[in-house]
Amino acid sequence: MSTNTASTASSPPLPLVVVPAPPPPPAPAAVVPKRASVADRVARAFPPLACVRGYRYFARRRVALANVSETGLDADVRGQRVQHVRLRVHADGRLASGCTCAAKILGPAACRHVWATLLEIDRQGAFDALRGTQRALALIALDAPLKRPKTKKAVKR
Ligand SMILES: [Zn+2]
Repeated sequence: MSTNTASTASSPPLPLVVVPAPPPPPAPAAVVPKRASVADRVARAFPPLACVRGYRYFARRRVALANVSETGLDADVRGQRVQHVRLRVHADGRLASGCTCAAKILGPAACRHVWATLLEIDRQGAFDALRGTQRALALIALDAPLKRPKTKKAVKR
């Protein structure tokens, strides 16, 4: 059953209002997932002072990366003396760290030198395999600890 009424035929004309076009909707957020900062993922392992001092090394470009691959790298960090840092990415995604400075005896190195190295890694975008998630990542010790280099100052008297 249908009714056939011309309801709009007698409506008064509406005033003509120019409505500005609405702004275009914002572009959809890029689908590219945000890549995590490796330093952020392991940050909780580092004492604040190590982060502060490590940042200074990083900001003064004291970090030189070497042997960079997706599974590890070495770094020289120039402070009062040069310390050697080694990072290894294990197959299960864990990150092992070592450093030749005295702080390494506390287990996995979470010292200023490793922090400076992590900041440099983030700057260069290395270790992409660790950047797919923001989840916290525990630092573990290297399988083979770094040996402290013999320095002239360490010679016995
Ligand atoms: Zn160190």
